[in-house]
Amino acid sequence: MTEATAPITQDVLTLPRKLPEGGKTNLIGLTREELRAALIAAGTPERQAKMRLGQVWQWVYHWGVRDFAAMTNLAKEYRTLLADHFTIDLPEVVNRQVSADGTRKYLVRIAGGHEVEVVYIPEETRGTLCISSQVGCTLTCSFCHTGTQKLVRNLTAGEIVGQVMLARDDLGEWPEPGAPKDETRLVSNVVLMGMGEPLYNFDNVRDAMRVVMDGEGIALGRRRITLSTSGVVPEIARAATEIGCQLAVSFHATTDEVRDRLVPINKRWNIKALLDELREYPKLSNSERITFEYVMLKGVNDSDADARRLVKLIQGIPAKINLIPFNEWPGSPYERSDWERIEAFADIIYKAGYASPIRTPRGEDIMAACGQLKSATERARKSRAEIAAEAGL
Ligand code: SAH
Ligand code: SF4
Repeated sequence: MTEATAPITQDVLTLPRKLPEGGKTNLIGLTREELRAALIAAGTPERQAKMRLGQVWQWVYHWGVRDFAAMTNLAKEYRTLLADHFTIDLPEVVNRQVSADGTRKYLVRIAGGHEVEVVYIPEETRGTLCISSQVGCTLTCSFCHTGTQKLVRNLTAGEIVGQVMLARDDLGEWPEPGAPKDETRLVSNVVLMGMGEPLYNFDNVRDAMRVVMDGEGIALGRRRITLSTSGVVPEIARAATEIGCQLAVSFHATTDEVRDRLVPINKRWNIKALLDELREYPKLSNSERITFEYVMLKGVNDSDADARRLVKLIQGIPAKINLIPFNEWPGSPYERSDWERIEAFADIIYKAGYASPIRTPRGEDIMAACGQLKSATERARKSRAEIAAEAGL
């Protein structure tokens, strides 16, 4: 099969929604409806289910409590019943690195021994947590380290929510009972810009974000969540209507010829198809604007002509253009554009009336910058059967 006709595969292993662990269900990542059904199945009388759901939800997602015994507004017998049927488990942090600039990178182990990375970026007025949606990525963008990783599995909703919770653990961000309400948030924003293509793991990403947005728990508003996609056109409208978060799109080129090389999914849905879909997003999601991400690659996509074409292409779409200086990784086939080139490019965009921030690379010393994530423990490609066996399925 030639490269041009190779299918863009979604053929990755997806684990069952509830991971049984010694017969117990991990309740992290269950939606409200799923948790309610699980509580009833475990023996909660139906007429109490709504109240119990609210109580358990608040303990877990508002207070960050992991031990049923500490859920003191529940009767002792009910706490025992919960402990007999459920666990409250997060993925395990196996390594934590802190950059000279304060960026934190967590290496997180999930069922089956696979690893993903989570990055926390503190800024003066906010803190952004960059989370992963898959182990590796089935797409093979030529400038992205994650795209060179062969092993791929979809994360469960629980593993996605768990990344937010473990960062809050590490930052000590759960509220103290009785303490005055603190409105300053350490994790104030979440971006789905780590490993993986979130729209190829749609259901789990949607359910996880609903848990994270829920006002009785972690309560991050939908405007504080940004999903970044390489351009999975058929799923974009669903992201608007079923999640309603902010959208970022990895645009990176202004002609199909160049975008085909950089972001191969462009062979399936080209620039025109992508833009047609993006025009609908702000209306559908009631969001203000779309972020166009544009990685600056020396001599590849960084000319003045590119900048002018870009502005023309996105005409009529409320947009912000995020210029990302290319972050190198071992063996990467591109170079970062010179600083003057990036500024000249930004200037053309700015004069056309768009915000064009240049993203300062963060955490480069710990390989935490955009596109540098790839689990170091990657081994040879495994079969689906092997991965399933490791996960105990
Ligand atoms: N799969 C999704 C989200 C993860 S990538 C997507 O592609 O949008 C997050 C952002 O980092 C994307 O815009 C991606 O194109 C960009 N990126 C990937 N590799 C990079 C690198 N080496 N340097 C700078 N940005 C990179
Ligand atoms: Fe996957 Fe995004 Fe990297 Fe492309 S840029 S390979 S879609 S993670």
